[in-house]
Amino acid sequence: MPGTHEGLRAVVTGGASGIGAAIVAALQERGATVVVLDLQPSPSAPSVTCDVSSDESVRAAVAAAVDQLGGLDVLVNNAGIGAQGTVEDNPDDEWRRVYEVNVLGAVRLSRACLPHLRASTAASIVNTCSIAATAGLPQRALYSATKGAIAALTRAMAADHLREGIRVNAVNPGTADTPWVARLLSTAADPEAERAALEARQPHGRLVAPEEVAEAVAYLSSPSARSTTGVDLAVDGGMQALRLRPA
Ligand code: NAD
Repeated sequence: MPGTHEGLRAVVTGGASGIGAAIVAALQERGATVVVLDLQPSPSAPSVTCDVSSDESVRAAVAAAVDQLGGLDVLVNNAGIGAQGTVEDNPDDEWRRVYEVNVLGAVRLSRACLPHLRASTAASIVNTCSIAATAGLPQRALYSATKGAIAALTRAMAADHLREGIRVNAVNPGTADTPWVARLLSTAADPEAERAALEARQPHGRLVAPEEVAEAVAYLSSPSARSTTGVDLAVDGGMQALRLRPA
């Protein structure tokens, strides 16, 4: 849908790689001006170095991005890191480390961006959540807990900021074909076989393309979704709706 984001100014965290990079491309294609906030530079959009686990870094990066953009209409909280294991496997420090990025990162960005979003007539926040928030994935206790927090935060913020005209939604990707997943597969004894097995475990027999998640983010952040807030849109081949679990 070219032109849906004409004149909109967006910040995308974690926009240098994977799902975030696809979101940047989708918003740009639709006419948005985008600044990426990431630990690493984006190959395709102006970037400001930002560590979402540091409040100081977030405040400075948001100020620089808004300065470049001349305002802000869309915040995409996408930066995130993984964690494997049961509650017995991850010590408290690891829980704090992952929460700092996946949960507090989105909180800090939202706090820093809300004053700017209030000045927009097309304001919205989209959080990259995960099927892990709803599916009960084995060996993902810590990661799932962070995404469950993001799902709840999305609904609570939708309520808090409804009357200010700021919509807050989430996307719930299934297993997506990104550098993150490639890194995980590369640790397997036979990465090709592991990839084939992972694909076979998905309800629709393949990994989700980052571009498919980006389409959902583009819709939720567009004026077409102006009556939509507090929802999480699954992009998972049906896993959530069909109550499926990866084997
Ligand atoms: P990725 O590793 O390819 O990209 C993540 C990006 O976030 C990188 O550019 C990285 O530099 C950045 N980042 C990491 N920590 C950061 C920090 N502290 N501050 C700023 N930037 C930081 O990962 P991806 O697969 O594209 O995942 C993106 C999001 O999608 C994450 O929130 C993840 O939880 C979610 N997600 C991914 C999948 C999947 O299967 N890949 C499924 C569901 C949800």
